[in-house]
Amino acid sequence: MTGGPRIALLGFSIECNRFAPPAGAEDFRVRLEGEAILADARARAPKALAEMPGFVQAMDKAAPWQPRPILLAMAEPNGPVEQDVFDAMMASWRAGLEALRGAVEGVYCVLHGAALTTGLDDPEGALQGLIREVLGPDVPLVCSYDLHANVSDAMVRDCDAFVGYRTNPHLDMRERGMEAAALLRRLMAGERFHRAFRRLPIVAPSVSLLTSEGPYAEIINLGQARATVLSQRKVANVSVMAGFAYGDTPFNGFAIIVTGPDKDACEALADELAKAAWDRRERFIAKLTSLREAVERAQTSEVPLCFADVADNPGGGGRGNTMYILEAFHKAGVQDAVFGIIHDPELAAEAHALGKGAAFTARFNRGGAQGFSKPFTAPAVVQALSDGKITGRRGIFANTAIDLGPTAALRLGGIVVVVVSRRTQCADPVFLEHLGIDISAARAVVVKSRGHFRGGFDEFFSAPRIIEVDVPGLTSPVLDRFEWKRLPRPVVPLDAGAVWQAG
Ligand SMILES: [Zn+2]
Repeated sequence: MTGGPRIALLGFSIECNRFAPPAGAEDFRVRLEGEAILADARARAPKALAEMPGFVQAMDKAAPWQPRPILLAMAEPNGPVEQDVFDAMMASWRAGLEALRGAVEGVYCVLHGAALTTGLDDPEGALQGLIREVLGPDVPLVCSYDLHANVSDAMVRDCDAFVGYRTNPHLDMRERGMEAAALLRRLMAGERFHRAFRRLPIVAPSVSLLTSEGPYAEIINLGQARATVLSQRKVANVSVMAGFAYGDTPFNGFAIIVTGPDKDACEALADELAKAAWDRRERFIAKLTSLREAVERAQTSEVPLCFADVADNPGGGGRGNTMYILEAFHKAGVQDAVFGIIHDPELAAEAHALGKGAAFTARFNRGGAQGFSKPFTAPAVVQALSDGKITGRRGIFANTAIDLGPTAALRLGGIVVVVVSRRTQCADPVFLEHLGIDISAARAVVVKSRGHFRGGFDEFFSAPRIIEVDVPGLTSPVLDRFEWKRLPRPVVPLDAGAVWQAG
């Protein structure tokens, strides 16, 4: 065929915290339609996360192809998506797919896997089902997912290859997009893949799921080692999905999906990895430091420390504006500390109106208490201002165009607080550095992030210098503080009686 295979491109990516306020249309910061998907994917600093750019660039490099881009919508983690917002997107995908019926040889769909809507537990399954419904079962469909996906049966059934991230912090998004391109080419050449699927009653606290070391790393590494030995002729992809506890769905649970041409090899490897996960179940626990001890260490440590506010992680649906740590550090008179980054558009706007050097009373959360986000007031000086338009330097946002909105660095005694207008997790040092803040000169750096900050701030803080602080919040790793409604029970680590049998 002249011009190469015609491939539909689409995607929907948001991680939804059941306990956070709903997400509206304005929360989808990346909403690319048609050719804009390709222009962004081929740009020097794309707005989209790196899967679609990785896919498009791999396809461009390999051989001629004819992209058929539809709609790619991506948002920062949030609450469940308003149903009418999702319905409107489904209508756009449907119209785009119907126009391509009988006229595409393959489909690539970027997904997260832990989305919710106000009416659906499994919007990804709904979108995959729509693709199958419109294009039929024979057009190869490759889907990629974040490793925090809560994997439903429909997600595994309604695709031909299931590709999940392997790194947390997520530093392999581009590689997984490229891998999706390679697998789609194999499928379009006539290969067919089996998918072996196991789900275990383990809902691990997010902080226990790093991939540099620990139980999760061991299972991922075992899967990759086995896949290498078995070779691509038998196993094409091994995805070990940790899940996202705060999704609170009936299909939450640690999941293994092995995709490949050899059904028996895929099933056997899925069993082996599931057993490896179950054997490690008691190691999926959070080890947090109390706020009292964190304050003490900030005051007495001889080496600089990084304090992670893991319970208010915008990257897990946190609002990015709880005051527990800031208030305690300020009250205790902690010196040479930097706080990044607090979401408070009204305060950032006031700082911009007052100008650099102005002294004023900073009123955080001036609209009143909402959930865990409560007002806090302190004398402040405007130290620096920016428009918040930056390019990520390091970690998950590297080379990504980011817009924090009007941003201000405020000095509160011995503490500098960076205030932003668009809710984002503090995963990249440039969020602070672009305001002239020297991170290497700080004695304490507090980040509102669960774990992705590790991929950005590792230049300054090795793992032993990172303190995960236990304060209240929408993303607290202390799972028994939540009122679970849909989570399957019993489940590790919440219940004593969780059971699982191999095979
Ligand atoms: Zn994730």
